[in-house]
Amino acid sequence: MATNEDCIFCKIARKEVKSEIVEETDNFFAFLDLSPRTKGHTLIIPKKHFSNIMDLPALYGNELLDIIKKVGEKRLKEGNEGFNLVMNNFPAAGQVVMHAHIHLIPRKKEDGFRTLG
Ligand code: AMP
Ligand code: ZN
Repeated sequence: MATNEDCIFCKIARKEVKSEIVEETDNFFAFLDLSPRTKGHTLIIPKKHFSNIMDLPALYGNELLDIIKKVGEKRLKEGNEGFNLVMNNFPAAGQVVMHAHIHLIPRKKEDGFRTLG
């Protein structure tokens, strides 16, 4: 399905719902998470509606890697020392919004969060 009328992230990608835009490419959109785990917590989404990574066409791979690296570089330049990439796929794994998204969570050594993975 290319779009889903009721999907909040489709509305954000179409700019019908306001978001703090971080980056935009032909097929991807990056914006600030409303409930940031750390400062600069960013969500990276395909503009088209895909439910999770299993639906995302492989041909988007390069563009996705590029936008992840662009946002990561921006956060590192702001003084962060690293970042976590988290993707919840399916409700059993904690996915709440059913439009594929990758969390980019900036990290600092002494930020008090445990290391994931
Ligand atoms: P997930 O559990 O991976 O599905 O996470 C969904 C994420 O979307 C959460 O971190 C929410 O804070 C975030 N979120 C939900 N609605 C919005 C919104 N309108 N703008 C920005 N972030 C949102
Ligand atoms: Zn959607």
